[in-house]
Amino acid sequence: MKRFECKSIGMACEFRAEGQTSEEVLAKAEEHAAAAHNLPRGAETRAKIAPQIKDV
Ligand SMILES: [Zn+2]
Repeated sequence: MKRFECKSIGMACEFRAEGQTSEEVLAKAEEHAAAAHNLPRGAETRAKIAPQIKDV
C-alpha cells in the first residue's frame, strides 16, 4: 500500500491519503491540497507530492 502524509510537504495538517497505487494516492492528495490548502491542481503540486508517497 502507498501512503502520503500532508505534513511531509510542510503543512501543519494531519491529512493522510492511502491507496493501492501511487497514482491513486497522488490523485487523492492533489484533491486535498487544492481543497484544503489552495494549492493549484497540476504538475507543480503533483511534483511536490509524488516524492513523499511512501510504501507502507
Ligand atoms: Zn493537508
